[in-house]
Amino acid sequence: MSFSQLGLCDPLLKSIKEKGYSSPSPIQQEAIPAILTGRDVLAAAQTGTGKTAGFALPVLQRLAAGPKTNANNVRALILTPTRELAAQVETNIREYKTHLRLKSAVVFGGVGINPQMKILRSGVDVLVATPGRLLDLYQQNAVKFNQLEILVLDEADRMLDMGFIHDIKRILKLLPAQRQSLLFSATFAPNVMELAESITNNPIKLAVTPANTTVEKIEQQLVAVDKSRKIAALIGLIKQQQWQQVLVFSRTKHGANRIAAKLESAGLPSAAIHGNKSQGARTSALKAFKDGSIKVLVATDIAARGIDISELPVVVNLDLPNTAADYVHRIGRTGRAGAAGQAWSLVSADELESLQDIERLIQQLIPRTVLAGFEPNQPLAETKLQPPKKIKKPKKPKAQAADSAPQGQRKDNKPKANAGANRNSKPRPQRRRNGSGNGNASGRSRQKAPAAAGV
Ligand code: AMP
Repeated sequence: MSFSQLGLCDPLLKSIKEKGYSSPSPIQQEAIPAILTGRDVLAAAQTGTGKTAGFALPVLQRLAAGPKTNANNVRALILTPTRELAAQVETNIREYKTHLRLKSAVVFGGVGINPQMKILRSGVDVLVATPGRLLDLYQQNAVKFNQLEILVLDEADRMLDMGFIHDIKRILKLLPAQRQSLLFSATFAPNVMELAESITNNPIKLAVTPANTTVEKIEQQLVAVDKSRKIAALIGLIKQQQWQQVLVFSRTKHGANRIAAKLESAGLPSAAIHGNKSQGARTSALKAFKDGSIKVLVATDIAARGIDISELPVVVNLDLPNTAADYVHRIGRTGRAGAAGQAWSLVSADELESLQDIERLIQQLIPRTVLAGFEPNQPLAETKLQPPKKIKKPKKPKAQAADSAPQGQRKDNKPKANAGANRNSKPRPQRRRNGSGNGNASGRSRQKAPAAAGV
């Protein structure tokens, strides 16, 4: 299938060509025509599937046909959980809209608010925002939603994990009821479905990337190792394999700092990124990692979420994540766009249950490798593959007639409670916002830093 078959206009087809995309990814094949109909959409899609273009391209096309945006107004609002993801989404939008007369901007916390207010003054067609800063701007009358046509919630599951539910509810109250709502999420746990029900009306439901399709492209290895020797084993592994660029996951911020410090003292240039690091520190660590001046980036799950590094060769789980779905997110950082990637997990005996959950979700036993000199004193028990958890698959959308539900028409029939793609419905604990995402409504963490970009 080609992009031109999806009903996209010439200016967008031109940008797609310039980006070097030859054919649409599965989520793009489904989401683009669905969003172009004007109906609400609920989509299961992980990072790395091309989901951003999946919503950005049709949103831009719908906006291109519309009226001029008035002062301080916004016609499409894209909410993301982290600053990094917000910046990355807006960068993509800017590239896709090169040949359209549309204006985009990104706003997030942790940087000065005044330049963002200035950018919004003349109105923007597409605003990418993290929730806390958006509320700050609204309170200061810098942004208005009278002309809002489209709302996109990107990585909705992460937003809930990060405790943004109250901010999201406050934002929803400010938006016109007549709008198109699009919700993208990697998982459809019950809390995400509940949010989806309150936001969307009779949505088209898409689930085109079951977790194990991504996983199949990645070479996975498991090394059983004692908990106390994990960092030493990691150092040994990096040196033995001569890895030049490794993303290491740690479950905790404190752990991430400790690992990075130990790697540094072993002669491996490293940095840690997590929610307690300033925006500046995170950006410079990421830059150093991309340009090769540091070899190892140690990240927590939330901090890593918004990182756009394509074709990362190796990901290491120094400890297994809290949920099996997070394992898929983590290893999804590698092996992107068809490139071969490796994912190594250092697993100690106490993590047996997490390992079983992961293997059950991905429906495969992770191959085990012995690391010479690091054979565990506490052996990791052998695992057996358990049958997948029963899930209800969402219905595939039927071909939608363009006029089947005119834009903005709200209907009463709500989605069924578990109609989304629930690949791992284990509810995760809600956390308070930990500062890794935004400045927030009451406006803390105000640093003097470059303004968010406006175009
Ligand atoms: P995303 O899942 O939106 O984070 O996209 C993952 C990566 O895939 C980004 O670097 C995109 O630029 C790239 N990408 C998106 N769509 C395509 C496509 N159709 N062909 C090739 N690469 C793509």
